[in-house]
Amino acid sequence: MDKLTEAARHANGLEAGNAERVGTLRRALAGECQDLLIDGAWCPAITGRAFDIDDPATGTIIATAAAGEADDVALAVGAARRAFRDGPWPRLPASKRAALLFALADELEAKVDDLALLESLDAGHPLDSLLNGDIRHGLAALRDNAAWATKLGGETAMQAADQRGANYFLREPVGVVGIITPWNAPFLMTIQKLAAALAAGCTVVIKPSELAPLTAVRLGRACQAVGIPPGVVNIVTGTGAAAGQALAEHPDVNMISFTGSTATGRSIMASSARSNLKRVVLELGGKSPVLVFADTDLPKAAAAIVAEITFKSGQYCAAGSRVFVQSSVYGELLDLMQREMGNVRTGAGYQSGSDMGPMISERQRRRALDIIEHSLEAGARLLCGGQARPGVGYFFDPTIITHVTADMRVSREEIFAPVLVVTPFADDASQAEVADLANDSIFGLSAKVWARDVGIVHDMIARLEAGQVVVNGGGGEAVLPFGGVKQSGYGRENGLAGVSAYTEIKSVRLGY
Ligand code: NAD
Repeated sequence: MDKLTEAARHANGLEAGNAERVGTLRRALAGECQDLLIDGAWCPAITGRAFDIDDPATGTIIATAAAGEADDVALAVGAARRAFRDGPWPRLPASKRAALLFALADELEAKVDDLALLESLDAGHPLDSLLNGDIRHGLAALRDNAAWATKLGGETAMQAADQRGANYFLREPVGVVGIITPWNAPFLMTIQKLAAALAAGCTVVIKPSELAPLTAVRLGRACQAVGIPPGVVNIVTGTGAAAGQALAEHPDVNMISFTGSTATGRSIMASSARSNLKRVVLELGGKSPVLVFADTDLPKAAAAIVAEITFKSGQYCAAGSRVFVQSSVYGELLDLMQREMGNVRTGAGYQSGSDMGPMISERQRRRALDIIEHSLEAGARLLCGGQARPGVGYFFDPTIITHVTADMRVSREEIFAPVLVVTPFADDASQAEVADLANDSIFGLSAKVWARDVGIVHDMIARLEAGQVVVNGGGGEAVLPFGGVKQSGYGRENGLAGVSAYTEIKSVRLGY
């Protein structure tokens, strides 16, 4: 590489090493269409059609993937059914399934840098946030679910000593599972579901988001590499309308595990009702409240609130986006958050030093702008940001909006952009009143509390309508069950609750 090129790459923030790797990856992706994985073989869509995948940081096409439709889904479901009915996977001792899942985690761990780069190019996220966030959490969830494989079981009822026979229940895998995932955390969302389904002995058909399917396809290769038998993991790329809906409607699918928008979740429930009443687990959208009480560590709260809303450019389901702050510290918190936003370095995720990547598409960015414009016309005020960054890619400036009312679109809808709305509450507001502000939403995914007073903290935990409450930034790493209440969905990902969703209970009354 000549000195000038090297200098130009440094000026763009793309370190020489990264530039080489991005170039190599782009060339590899350009050279082949991403095929479907059906019954252990990689194949094009039956129609022969493919769709384009772009790099959201530049808007350029980086890859193509097979455009699977209903006929491809039918083949994949057939393969998953045969693997479930006749194949070794559900019949393996649980310890062997667990061993293969641990091997899968090791295989992926050996390639974390490649996985992070692929996801960064495909979904736009900064490498650091992937290496220390999604991919690390995904591998932890994979290992945690693997460990559950040997612990899932039934119970035997106590009975009288002289009673003949036995009464007990056992657990069986639910069967063929359709996994439908979004683009904002493609690797993490897919691996969590896959790990739980496989740990329970199910077989799967994965339909990744058409906007960012590349790491899901890579996962299929990793499953093959560690020897997960053919037909156990099938992957059908394609649109939601063509491939996703066909999977949700398929009469031989026993369960859909879905993460995505509330609107699509609704459609998937309808598909289930129209077809075979398949079990549905829904991890849906959010509009999470952040409650800031005056006694908290304000600089710490401000930094954490901004870090969370700029993580994935605000395209994070659990992001705290509605901030309610005690009046006496309203101005100070605004100043601190504005300063934090000013320090956020925006750039391609694979550029060194980027804190925040682009949004996923022009469509998403336009939608965010529309919601903001609508609210400004209704009287809200822009403190900072609120604009698309000019030039290539789908970048969006970190944004703070004040003087909002609860009925504005910016307060009610999931914007999925780096946008905070901030509202003061009276210093003497009761805890019930503060909780009412937070709970005034159709969503209930996550809620955040910043307070030192342990009485306030406990009271808020009890009052908040959310599947998760994060207090003072959270307590470190753990694989906890995750999911929502209200229109954020139902069911849980991870933990015993998560893996149990992939099992059926069979009660046995055994006499002789
Ligand atoms: P989306 O609902 O548009 O798409 C999600 C998936 O569903 C994609 O694979 C899509 O192709 C497919 N799909 C679309 N229409 C379908 C249909 N009719 N039938 C079957 N499948 C269909 O969501 P998105 O825009 O990809 O993702 C963003 C959303 O995901 C946000 O609302 C976010 O809050 C949510 N999300 C939730 C969680 C959580 O854990 N609760 C996590 C991440 C993202």
